[in-house]
Amino acid sequence: MNVRTLRFKLGLTNGLFISIFFVVFGYIRYQTFTYRADRNFDRRLEQQADFFSENLRSTPEGFDWEPSATPADVMALDAIRPFFVLTDLEGRILREEYYGYYVQRMLDAQDLNEILHRPSGFTDAASSEGRRFRFISSTISFPSGQKVVLHLGRSLDELNDMKREYWLIWAYSVPLVLIISVGVGWFLAARALRPFGEVANIAEQITSQKLNTQIVNVRREQEIQRLVQSFNAMVARLSRSFEQMRTFNANVAHELRTPLAILQGETEVALRSSKMSEEIRSVLISNLEELGRLTRIVNDILTLSEVEAGSQILEKKPVNIRTLVADLSEQMQLLAMERNIRIEVEELPDAIVEADDLWIRRAILNLLDNAIKYSRDGGRIQVSMVRDETRVHVSIRDEGIGISEQDQPHIFDPMFRTDPARHRDSGGAGLGLALVKWVIEAHQGQIRVKSQTNQGAEFQLEFPLSRSPGFTPA
Ligand code: ADP
Repeated sequence: MNVRTLRFKLGLTNGLFISIFFVVFGYIRYQTFTYRADRNFDRRLEQQADFFSENLRSTPEGFDWEPSATPADVMALDAIRPFFVLTDLEGRILREEYYGYYVQRMLDAQDLNEILHRPSGFTDAASSEGRRFRFISSTISFPSGQKVVLHLGRSLDELNDMKREYWLIWAYSVPLVLIISVGVGWFLAARALRPFGEVANIAEQITSQKLNTQIVNVRREQEIQRLVQSFNAMVARLSRSFEQMRTFNANVAHELRTPLAILQGETEVALRSSKMSEEIRSVLISNLEELGRLTRIVNDILTLSEVEAGSQILEKKPVNIRTLVADLSEQMQLLAMERNIRIEVEELPDAIVEADDLWIRRAILNLLDNAIKYSRDGGRIQVSMVRDETRVHVSIRDEGIGISEQDQPHIFDPMFRTDPARHRDSGGAGLGLALVKWVIEAHQGQIRVKSQTNQGAEFQLEFPLSRSPGFTPA
């Protein structure tokens, strides 16, 4: 589980808030409940004491119930009698019920003493076994002027059980509520965040070539609509800037071509003249080389901006990759020989691919050229090809300076050159592989590089085979 996700944070915050609310609310509820229950208990004790007092009468034989009491009253009195004691104002017992005797034995002596001497009010008492009781004392005045005190008690067990039950239910439900609310929060956060994921997925597919892609606003939620709108606006702005950059590149390259061609031509004419010192001649030859290099770079920039603008159209027809690779390898062998480099071509199978011959040539030539450029003198380059049912795989492997792992993801970016390549000053500008990649992908193919620093590099190409029937390879 990733704790740094918004989903986790939302789920957890939701769970915590609901749980804190539940705990605080539960606590307040518990307090009001106990306060009310205690008050009801006392009120009922008061009512029972009043009822007793009303039905008590003093006779010469002692104290007894009103004979006029209805059977229902007698029953009600009987029910509350167990904890009933009658004393005089000094606390001497005047009448106690049968059960009252046990109550007296049961209660803590000090508590009992306190109760018996109390003329009015409530007293809490405990039994030796730990049971709890609450007594009310109230003074009754008879018309004869005699005053007695009535002490009436009730067990607090039921009330305490009720309170404990209430507390336990509340305490047990806290973790339950926490789990449920975290779960619900987790689920809701996932649902709420799903559209953002969808937007991100579409955004990931947008590349510099597909900058005109706009996300279709299918969601009705305002926040998502805003996000999509600002995203689309940003992509549109980017697209405009890219377009301006592309046009600028193309224009600059275009403008540079003519003066470069003139400079090249004039230098060549000047070199034909015999009236010049050897020193000037060598300067002019070096200039001509540099001009050639500049022209190549300018042409590549122009081609790349055309490719990116989508104005290059491929003319595809069935091409046998075997002959193309074999021819180019042979051609490049001449160049390689200057530095004692061998190009070894394995036995190649025929493989027909729907391709634009010129562009594919250009791509493979570029790879062979790089292999030579970045090889050491006297090195070896291996060219091989494998064909399966649907695809052909071409591999060009050298034993040169190699490409470090951190540079590999960038070598297909325009103008990217590795540091060792810069030091060699091979004349490249880092545009070749960007074009190669475009060519291969425009043929529904793929290009990969496998390399390690100083251990050579292998470029692997892969194209789908042509499915058009009736072609016989040359
Ligand atoms: P360049 O004109 O500089 O060769 P490319 O686009 O053809 O430009 O290649 C980009 C960079 O990739 C090169 O500058 C070089 O650093 C690296 N590279 C390409 N091919 C090889 C290879 N065969 N061996 C080592 N490095 C290579």
